[in-house]
Amino acid sequence: MTTWRVGTVVGAVMESPTARSIWLEIPGLPTPRPGQHIDIRLTAPDGYSTSRSYSLSDVREGETVAVSVEELDDGEVSPFLVHDLEIGEQVEVAGPVGMQFVWPPSEADADRPVQLVAGGSGIAPLMSMIRARETTRPDVEMRLLYSTRSPEHAFYRDEFALLTSSGRLRVDWFFSRSAPADSGRRAGRITRDEFLTAVLPVEDHPLFYLCGGNEYVEVLGDWLLDAGYPIGDIRIERFLVT
Ligand SMILES: Cc1cc2nc3c(=O)[nH]c(=O)nc-3n(C[C@H](O)[C@H](O)[C@H](O)COP(=O)(O)OP(=O)(O)OC[C@H]3O[C@@H](n4cnc5c(N)ncnc54)[C@H](O)[C@@H]3O)c2cc1C
Repeated sequence: MTTWRVGTVVGAVMESPTARSIWLEIPGLPTPRPGQHIDIRLTAPDGYSTSRSYSLSDVREGETVAVSVEELDDGEVSPFLVHDLEIGEQVEVAGPVGMQFVWPPSEADADRPVQLVAGGSGIAPLMSMIRARETTRPDVEMRLLYSTRSPEHAFYRDEFALLTSSGRLRVDWFFSRSAPADSGRRAGRITRDEFLTAVLPVEDHPLFYLCGGNEYVEVLGDWLLDAGYPIGDIRIERFLVT
């Protein structure tokens, strides 16, 4: 049976015009792992309730975790979470959930280099891995490929600027709709060549974590398999299950 706990909103920040990170304090939350998600349930005054899954974007504080939500124009839950849920208000939370899309996956693989690949809000669980790496395993190599609509739609921009300027993280940016002139990129879908050139090479034996919409992660996952990366080293999280 699902256990629902009460989460209190203790912080929130807009990440872009359409996305918001929300910090929830959840007493009794089992220790979360980077990459896991929670279910958030909302109940209206008339008793109608509905829940959605959201990846944890920060697990460093244990019982206080963050989620990062992208608003869907015609969505039922995400516009409320992005614009209306206020500090001090409460939601119900189940989880954390997920055994496969977690970093590190096991003690044996904890030292391996990691290639993170995000599409849109798929950056959220990868950010929990990046943040956890900084505090627990700063010696582990992590590289990020992040595809977003435009620079303005990128989450965690200040944190990425710090991590890249200090040499702590390499970020390969791709822009699907609007690319800045100085990025050296054109706007549009990432090509196979661009993707395979950017990611860690096969001979480095990287672990892959891909997160985003179904089509994005499936296409990129197939490119990795074709290029000879072992299937067991590729972990995928899909945000839209159809
Ligand atoms: C494991 C998991 C983790 C997730 N983590 C995150 C996260 O960290 N951040 C985040 O913003 N979202 C995340 N999602 C997606 C989230 O659960 C919701 O599906 C999303 O917020 C839309 O909910 P809604 O009620 O606003 O839209 P709904 O009312 O459920 O849907 C409205 C319309 O949008 C379409 N739709 C639903 N979901 C998506 C989507 N993801 N992309 C494009 N179209 C969609 C539907 O088909 C429908 O037409 C995750 C999903 C899963 C399964």
